Amino acid sequence: MKPGALHPRDVADKSPKENLARAIAFALEIESDAVRHNTQTFNANRYTALERLEDCGALKDRARAIKEESIRRLPELVETLTRTIRSRGGNVVYARTKEEAAAYVREICRAHAVNLAVKAKSITTEEIGLNSVLEADGIEVAESDLAEFILQISNEQPSHFVTPAIHRSRERITELFKSHFRTDRPLETGEELTEFARDILRQKFLSAGIGISGANLVSAEEGALLLVESEGNIRLTTTLPAVHVAVVGIEKIIPSRSDFGTFIELLAASATGQSLTSYTNILEPPLPLPVLNLNGRTDAAREFHLVLVDNGRMRMREDPGLREALYCIRCSACLNVCANFQAVGGHAFGGECYSGGIGGAWTVGTSGDVMKGRFAELCTGCSRCVPNCPVRIDIPGLNTTIKERLLEAGEPALQKKFFAHFSSLARFASLLPTLANWVGARGVSRRLLELLIGVDRRRVIPPFARKTLLRQYAASRTGATRPVGGLTRKLALFTDVYTQYNSPRMGMAAISLFGKLGIPVAPTGVMEDGRAALSQGLVESAARSARNVAGKLEAILDDGYDLLFAEPSVLAMVRQEYSTLIGDEALFGKIRAHCFDPVEYLNIMIDAGELDVQRLMPHAGTERPPLFYHGHCQMKSLGIGMEAPKLFRRLGFTVDVSSVECCGMAGSFGYKKQYYEISKNVGRDLGSQIGKSVSASPGTVILASGTSCREQIGADFAGGAVHPVEFLDSII
Ligand code: SF4
Ligand code: SF4
Repeated sequence: MKPGALHPRDVADKSPKENLARAIAFALEIESDAVRHNTQTFNANRYTALERLEDCGALKDRARAIKEESIRRLPELVETLTRTIRSRGGNVVYARTKEEAAAYVREICRAHAVNLAVKAKSITTEEIGLNSVLEADGIEVAESDLAEFILQISNEQPSHFVTPAIHRSRERITELFKSHFRTDRPLETGEELTEFARDILRQKFLSAGIGISGANLVSAEEGALLLVESEGNIRLTTTLPAVHVAVVGIEKIIPSRSDFGTFIELLAASATGQSLTSYTNILEPPLPLPVLNLNGRTDAAREFHLVLVDNGRMRMREDPGLREALYCIRCSACLNVCANFQAVGGHAFGGECYSGGIGGAWTVGTSGDVMKGRFAELCTGCSRCVPNCPVRIDIPGLNTTIKERLLEAGEPALQKKFFAHFSSLARFASLLPTLANWVGARGVSRRLLELLIGVDRRRVIPPFARKTLLRQYAASRTGATRPVGGLTRKLALFTDVYTQYNSPRMGMAAISLFGKLGIPVAPTGVMEDGRAALSQGLVESAARSARNVAGKLEAILDDGYDLLFAEPSVLAMVRQEYSTLIGDEALFGKIRAHCFDPVEYLNIMIDAGELDVQRLMPHAGTERPPLFYHGHCQMKSLGIGMEAPKLFRRLGFTVDVSSVECCGMAGSFGYKKQYYEISKNVGRDLGSQIGKSVSASPGTVILASGTSCREQIGADFAGGAVHPVEFLDSII
């Protein structure tokens, strides 16, 4: 079947393996451009809005603390909330399953002989399959949110939390409306489309017998509902019909209304990039307002029902691997910032209702079926979402848990084991590197590797070095440089597997560069840091490697050394992931404080007045070519993504900096046959930025810190990219 002939609902459930592949092909062909455009616009607005927020970090800490406390006290908060609402004359039901929740709403509709229900945007009602249950009972459901209205017509599942129809371009919405409503009205602009939908929906509001909403948060003490929205339809849904039913996941309960403020600020900024969302409603239903006299309902009394949906949430609360997902406030920042989400959207990177990096944990948690969370494999662990999450959720960590559970559930593991244990292959191949490289380059070997392991044959496999880093270092030690002129720092270079066997050049460049500054740097023994295993979901194996490496690092740090890491993904591993993997907070703190990117380290020394920037200046008469720098995604998450531009600008270079979140290669991800197209699609933006920079400034040197970034760039640009340290070493 051609991808274009597919319907997103056909592949919403990702438990059949082929559904993920089909959804990717479909999304890349049909939905990618719209998702990319819309998410990138959201991102630009979000960055500006967050900059405006006063002490955003403290606000995030507060939000996180409130959510942690709320989930810890959840059973008690459910009881308090139930008492509060009932004492006001409202009704509360605790639905253990989605079926119970949907059946309760259906019974309310039956009791009121409702023919038409108007609904506000609510992903929880999508989770419980409410529309189909009501429609099967002959009740018309009118979605009042424009995006949900579009999805209802097209019968598609949402692909995003805030903008559920983000995958549809304006042209595709026009086409849909024209064919569905057979109208002659011009529907060429967003305004015309909105006006058209509004005309239809206004009638629905006036005649609906029941209004169904969700809620962003509910306060237990006051029984207050927080509902933020852009269109105003939630306000109409919850106030026009006499009967209001709020369908709310239990994780939305927080202790007090006084905490709403923290979330209102963070939600608006993180979700839509606004200081305040257009409509912020705080309701304490049943409302003490008379029902409007519509359609003769003069005697109708207001009625309120709160349906508290468990549907796996209490199980998630008890599950250390998924519990953190319950803190999510559905702002979608992690979807927007994710390069893979930008490429395919939530119909591929998502399930039946939850999307993106956080969607895997929600899908698995609410369905109880890990196979439905297979789309978590699209998370490369790049960690770009983590600093963007207003409640600091470890989203890649959740996805690693799912990958691990998929393996435990019997997913084929050959490809994962191949990438996870690359070090064994590298050690073996580097015994006879020339032969290994010759074999690896043969067409027949590549076909076999693709067939058996799924390594895409269109990718160039990095060759093994003829001499490893440690051998090159041993051969170069004719006279070690000694500390000079007050430079007291003791430095060692972390010898990761890739630097040792494939790219000793970048390791030797770091040693040489610091040697020129009078700081001797010796490489450590080769260490398998665990990143390769972790990225494949082999958590136990990664934790073993991490504990082993942490022990060795402790001895080096106790000798007074700082450590340099040429490969950013390894640096991110020890400075981020070791926090949970090694299980020793004190040791992790020590490691985090003494492990550095080489360029970051130079800037630290310059800032501390320990290194005169003049010592890094190019030789007299050396040209300063224009530079283009692409920072590694994990360096950005560590907050050191701009260290190289900072240093090169100090040295008088002009530096153009890539603004993409990720190059798309993401370690082993881009080598996997099933993800090759996504990887190339993600790389498109970086390629176009480099192309523009190079044509505007011929002779531009492309710098990239990450090994896989350089591989992605090298596939499209002759000459490729070099590590900043290699470039620096070559000019001073
Ligand atoms: S870690 Fe990276 S790939 Fe995974 S969800 Fe976050 S941004 Fe997306
Ligand atoms: S995980 Fe964080 S960033 Fe993602 S939707 Fe939830 S709150 Fe927002």
